[in-house]
Amino acid sequence: MSRTDRRDDSVNSGKVSLYDVIIIGSGPAGYTAGIYTSRARLQTLLVTGTLPGGQLMTTSEVENYPGFPNGIFGPELMMNMRQQAERFGTLAIDDEVIQVDFKQRPFKITTSGEIFESEAVLICTGASPRKLGIKGEQMFAGRGVSYCATCDGPFFKGEDIVVVGGGDTALEEATFLTKFGKSVKIVHRRDSLRASKILQDKAFENPKIEFLWNSVVSDIIGDKKIASIVVSDVYNGKEQKIQAGGLFVAIGHDPNTSIFRGQLELDDKGYIALKNNSFTNIEGVFAAGDVHDYRYRQAITAGGFGCMAALDVEKWLTERKHRANTEPSEVAFTQMRRQALKDS
Ligand SMILES: Cc1cc2nc3c(=O)[nH]c(=O)nc-3n(C[C@H](O)[C@H](O)[C@H](O)COP(=O)(O)OP(=O)(O)OC[C@H]3O[C@@H](n4cnc5c(N)ncnc54)[C@H](O)[C@@H]3O)c2cc1C
Repeated sequence: MSRTDRRDDSVNSGKVSLYDVIIIGSGPAGYTAGIYTSRARLQTLLVTGTLPGGQLMTTSEVENYPGFPNGIFGPELMMNMRQQAERFGTLAIDDEVIQVDFKQRPFKITTSGEIFESEAVLICTGASPRKLGIKGEQMFAGRGVSYCATCDGPFFKGEDIVVVGGGDTALEEATFLTKFGKSVKIVHRRDSLRASKILQDKAFENPKIEFLWNSVVSDIIGDKKIASIVVSDVYNGKEQKIQAGGLFVAIGHDPNTSIFRGQLELDDKGYIALKNNSFTNIEGVFAAGDVHDYRYRQAITAGGFGCMAALDVEKWLTERKHRANTEPSEVAFTQMRRQALKDS
């Protein structure tokens, strides 16, 4: 049965399932939250999205996640996290949330297959690094093309490195990469930078950094790994081949928040705006990880935010239950309320 058929069936039959908490997203934030909420005996549903395991599924070795002295492959780390969450009772389904309704509780979460309800929702949908969209980018991802200098810089010791971008992140990453690379060339499509003055000064003063203005990366050449990069002049199209072992793309991230637009307060960049710890402007809706955090963007910080949000969810549900002076389970509370309505 196709996803659409399943959705039609579910919608037509009016089938819903009620959980204490629904976690949307399966990166380090989502799985960590699942470990905590299910260990706290909350009925937890986790919807993985189209990238089960999140961004780390697209990388090879992760060297900076604590507990793995020899590093661990991203997909292996994420499979471990999923198993750990499932071990305590998190139900993880490989589906995508296509619509949310936060207007009333229990909240309604519609996936392409079913409609679910929950007392609390924890959003862990992350952010996606913007791509150059050129030939070779996907082929060399994890083999020379990177979207995170903090994560991958140490793999490029003694290499010539190219960084694409002209904002704060690009300059911060380029400056950081000079600790490892032989040289760092910043390719920028304009003749001036958007980055802050202080970061610009730092970059201009760094003898390892060189700028290629009014230029874009148009091709990546190599075999098992990158050997060189083709850079084109945006005005006359003239191409030059630059020897490089690494290409860092630092042109921004897009938070995965389009389905929350109009339901939840987002900041001017589209990230979820937190009010207090992991609380959003809607009571009962929480967020964790790269979907609100554009400063740190690390697996360990996303996991940490997932833990914090799960603790907030648990405390919020407990306090609410206490206030309502009801049965131990939030689910039972809502079911009782429904029964009472039917009986009346
Ligand atoms: C190539 C690469 C290498 C990296 N290497 C490292 C590293 O070595 N060390 C490190 O600490 N960090 C690294 N990072 C950064 C790290 O991966 C992120 O900071 C971290 O994954 C963020 O976790 P998250 O849980 O917030 O979101 P993400 O990992 O982005 O996961 C988001 C999840 O949300 C799901 N989702 C999105 N929309 C929906 C929807 N509508 N319905 C349901 N689910 C949805 C997605 O399927 C995904 O599972 C790397 C990032 C990249 C891109």
